[in-house]
Amino acid sequence: MMPFTQLVLASHNAGKLKELQAMLGDTVRVRSIGEFSDVEPEETGLSFVENAILKARNAARISGLPALADDSGLAVDALGGAPGIYSARYADGQGDAANNAKLLQVLQDVPDAERSAQFVCALALVRHAEDPLPIICEGLWHGRILHAPRGEHGFGYDPLFWVPECDCSSAELPAAEKNQLSHRARAMSLLKQRLGIA
Ligand code: IMP
Repeated sequence: MMPFTQLVLASHNAGKLKELQAMLGDTVRVRSIGEFSDVEPEETGLSFVENAILKARNAARISGLPALADDSGLAVDALGGAPGIYSARYADGQGDAANNAKLLQVLQDVPDAERSAQFVCALALVRHAEDPLPIICEGLWHGRILHAPRGEHGFGYDPLFWVPECDCSSAELPAAEKNQLSHRARAMSLLKQRLGIA
């Protein structure tokens, strides 16, 4: 049984809110942290999980509601997990195209067999700001970094992420298909099981 009727999502991204609301179904109303504050907390953690917890606690504190946060990114094995939690600002805030160009450049001499990577999503749900037992669910999506971009869908590193089970890049997958397979979908599916709404 879902323990609450509404929760706040620690994100100002309307697309993410819509996606998570659709995944959770209508047993819970997902509200945006934007209804309560424009200020985003500093992501000072060293892991996806730490940052997700930090964002969820902040959202619960500001809204007085149970809060859900997600933190995601790309971890490349040959780079010791980089860009990791710094995925969005890998090229110093110059955006997706610059991030992708930097990744290709850094990996230019790395052979195919060593280009394994995973998209990572950590979800944290807290019942209140000081919740000592947050629900944490992680989703991984394994793939490999291509040598050149492919595909027009998605965002971020999708054009460089080869998905072996689909024989295409994640930017070549239509949104509906990506949303069945992705790191976010996997984490969300685990969360739904934990909440008893799977
Ligand atoms: P955020 O958690 O949505 O802020 O994502 C952090 C960063 O990780 C994004 O800016 C992207 O660079 C990367 N990222 C996370 N999820 C994906 C994805 O599904 N496809 C491509 N890039 C992603």
